[in-house]
Amino acid sequence: MTATAIPEMLKEALVVTDVINPLPVTDQCDECGARAWGRAVLREGGALLFCAHHLRQHFDVLVARSVKVEDYTSALAKQEAH
Ligand SMILES: [Zn+2]
Repeated sequence: MTATAIPEMLKEALVVTDVINPLPVTDQCDECGARAWGRAVLREGGALLFCAHHLRQHFDVLVARSVKVEDYTSALAKQEAH
């Protein structure tokens, strides 16, 4: 998908899981401070970062309240396999 504009009228967030590179190591979960493996771009503006644990915990709410949810946990799984 090459579209860069974020659709504003979607009922649910666009969930992106086919990311190649993880978030920067300096990005931290807004709840617990662990390394972030997910990012939610909120409808009301701004973005939240989540670790894998909190991303899963809040996933349904995030999808309902965000325009886009990026799930980087597939990169985490690859890293753990090494
Ligand atoms: Zn967390």
